[in-house]
Amino acid sequence: MAESLEYTPQRAQELKDNIEAVQREIQNARSTSCRLVPISKLKPASDIKALYDAGQRHFGENYIQEMADKARILPNDIQWHFVGSLQSNKAKLAASIPNLYVLETLSSIKVADLLQKSLVERTTPLNVYLQVNTSGEDAKSGLPPLTSSSTDGELVDLGKHVLQSCPDLKLLGLMTIGAWEASHNTDMPNPDFTCLKDTRRQLVRLLKDIPGAPQEEEDLELSMGMSADFVQAVKEGSSSVRVGTRIFGQRPAK
Ligand SMILES: *Cc1c(COP(=O)(O)O)cnc(C)c1O
Repeated sequence: MAESLEYTPQRAQELKDNIEAVQREIQNARSTSCRLVPISKLKPASDIKALYDAGQRHFGENYIQEMADKARILPNDIQWHFVGSLQSNKAKLAASIPNLYVLETLSSIKVADLLQKSLVERTTPLNVYLQVNTSGEDAKSGLPPLTSSSTDGELVDLGKHVLQSCPDLKLLGLMTIGAWEASHNTDMPNPDFTCLKDTRRQLVRLLKDIPGAPQEEEDLELSMGMSADFVQAVKEGSSSVRVGTRIFGQRPAK
């Protein structure tokens, strides 16, 4: 994919208008800041360059090879978020991207170990979010959420493992992809967002005594909210929203 980074003024304006509209909606939803991560999967590198030239630095991708290809040709101060599922045979490729800012979808000890092994040459720890399957849908990745009666769970085991055995990974937060139905019903609190917040509270409770563990809920970020539901997510305390279609338009079929 030897792609050109050149964009037309029209396209740049369109992208800039879209991202500014999304930023305004975020600001109107809440007085404290929330990170906006444009999700550029299946969109050309020139779109990313146009937003980069307008000052945007965080971007997210869903396919690891596509992210690696884009990272190679785009400026190296972009802070990449990987939001797709990472097969274990691709952990090394992910770890080799020097400006990967956060892997948002960590959900196994196996992948944590493979990343740790591949990260020895990195100078700063790689941030990770643990992915939680808040809606319980079979088609969604992520580990089961926690409740106030939880005493353990896969999420706790993975959190412990990152803290105790992966010195080059930093446990930065939790991530969920909400159910489609809930994201299109904005009349009530979104159950996926409520669940992610509850899970964070319980995870902090269950990890507290481990050296280096987050001590306060605020020590863990929440990545929740997409094009259909980011306003609600911001109102409900999201730290980072992942917005694709609203900024870049419809995606081509993969
Ligand atoms: C594609 C994608 C997004 C962006 O989705 P839109 O509905 O286009 O905003 C967000 N998060 C993840 C994990 C994605 O794969």
